[in-house]
Amino acid sequence: MSRFSLRSPQSPFAPVITGCVYFAAASFTVSISRFEGGLAFIWIANAFLMAELLTTRTSYWPRAVVACAIASAIATALFGIGPVAAAPMALINVSESLIVAVICRSLLKEDVVTGSFKPLVVFILALCGVADIVTGVAAAAVASATTPVGFSASWLQWYSGHALGGLTCTPVVILLLQGEWSRWLRDTPKAVKIEAIILLALFTLVTVHVFYWARYPMLFAPMLPLVLIAFRVGHIGAAASIVILAVIGGVATMSDTGPLMLIPLSTGERVLAFQFYLALSFLLSMPVAAELNGRRRLFQMLQESESRFRAIAEHSGDVVLNISLAGTVEYASPSAQDMIGCAPALLVGQSVTELADAQDREAVRTIHAQALAQPGSVQQAEFRPLTALSDLDCCEMVSRAVVDERGQPVGVVSMIRDISRHKARQRALQQVAAHDALTGADSRRAFLDKLDAEMLRAADGARSCLLLIDLDHFKSVNDRYGHGGGDRVLTGFVQRILPELRDGDSIGRLGGEEFAILLADCDRRDASQLCDRLRQRLAAPISVNDQADTIAVTFSAGLVQLNGGSTRSAMLEAADRALYDAKHSGRNCLRLAA
Ligand code: GH3
Ligand code: MG
Ligand code: MG
Repeated sequence: MSRFSLRSPQSPFAPVITGCVYFAAASFTVSISRFEGGLAFIWIANAFLMAELLTTRTSYWPRAVVACAIASAIATALFGIGPVAAAPMALINVSESLIVAVICRSLLKEDVVTGSFKPLVVFILALCGVADIVTGVAAAAVASATTPVGFSASWLQWYSGHALGGLTCTPVVILLLQGEWSRWLRDTPKAVKIEAIILLALFTLVTVHVFYWARYPMLFAPMLPLVLIAFRVGHIGAAASIVILAVIGGVATMSDTGPLMLIPLSTGERVLAFQFYLALSFLLSMPVAAELNGRRRLFQMLQESESRFRAIAEHSGDVVLNISLAGTVEYASPSAQDMIGCAPALLVGQSVTELADAQDREAVRTIHAQALAQPGSVQQAEFRPLTALSDLDCCEMVSRAVVDERGQPVGVVSMIRDISRHKARQRALQQVAAHDALTGADSRRAFLDKLDAEMLRAADGARSCLLLIDLDHFKSVNDRYGHGGGDRVLTGFVQRILPELRDGDSIGRLGGEEFAILLADCDRRDASQLCDRLRQRLAAPISVNDQADTIAVTFSAGLVQLNGGSTRSAMLEAADRALYDAKHSGRNCLRLAA
């Protein structure tokens, strides 16, 4: 916000300047427009205070309000309805501005009331619908008590003078205080400036003609160039036109010239009629200009966001797709060539599901539908791509709906990322986690998962057995040959057992020198026989070091047949109890669970 340095709210002169400007505006209007000896017919000082409040922080408000209250009191005492009414009128004047400023600040996020449509409407309603009605009552009470003018005439004078003065002047002053005029002069291209000057000159000419030269009342004539200016030049142009209209028409009307002379009443009433005319001109042009300004800003934002999107889409390694409601690709970014091996132009017009392998098309279709069903949410799915490139075997698609101004989805934007390497790493990690690093048997976690799956099969009628094995006196192996020797025995033990297992069987290391074997589709008798065969396989000693030392180990085992109606832990406990029995029965034997 470019502001004069003296007007900076921090400056100690700021309230003095605010007060002086208010005093000048109040004294000027009150001296020229107290046509009937009561309240002034024109009042623009409060427009200045409203503009001041709406463009500064609230911390400055108390100083601005006090300065203007003092200025108002002096102006009323010197040029207005006299010293008796000075204090109450000052209070009423600043209340009007404060009511408008408080309503606008609390209802609007942006404090600019000139730039777009909604803030302007809020401002108009706050001023004409609330502030001037309320303060008009108080002002009329004071005026009717201190002047010859009655209550209702005073209320009307106040309401019209303040509402019309506020409407026409506040936006103009706000534009001035915010430096919009100087910004316009600085940033606008020369051709636009020349067009603006020509249009404003035309408007001035028409206005002078209407108020000074025309033989017929042609108050409607300036409307055409006024609307044209609002369209072509925007709110600055509209505001400038209102100033031109106010100055030319105001001077003419006050000096009893122009079309308003047809009103066979007092100058005061003609001035009121003129202000009404001015306010209507304002209401005709400013909202149009504000709306256009809002749309221009929106268009600018759209262009910026479009170019950001293009920059991301065209330089990203991921494939960016614009997909229609029906699921057809409307745009594919250039990276489609490198990632999927397909020219973007060839993807356009195809269904997005065609990108996925037949088995994953449903997943792609589902996230498209979900993105559309929940606009604002981000949907994600993994799929195997249907591609000519062999090293691409898994992709991730992230989709989000694009919505129109009413929030209705009009399409979907999707990003496709190659996650083949990530998936390969994940598989490798899972592989590591699923196996015991020393013996190559299943890890405890992986084995228990298999046991869960086998419990489900058992519930469906499959007959399977769980064998829990613990090596006998293993501590002594470690004691004699060290931990390394013990490790060799553990590895050798698993190697001896593996050849006896069938495809559906598994061996897992549950911990230390305790193993579990899952025997699928195998009854207790077969399992016992297998246990005997394992024992025979262990009869030959295992090498414990490179010095040709060997040791023969034995094991104790507990066997349980899986009961589909029971739980995994119950099965493990039963096998463990049987193993405990085997240990207590002298080791190197098998016990069946009860
Ligand atoms: P029991 O016949 O009663 O089973 O006697 P045990 O000596 O085998 O007794 P226990 O099962 O309590 O002892 C297991 C030993 O296995 C204790 C521990 O030092 C050893 N151990 C556990 N994990 C490993 C391993 O990864 N490597 C080696 N070398 N030894 C291990
Ligand atoms: Mg043990
Ligand atoms: Mg043991």
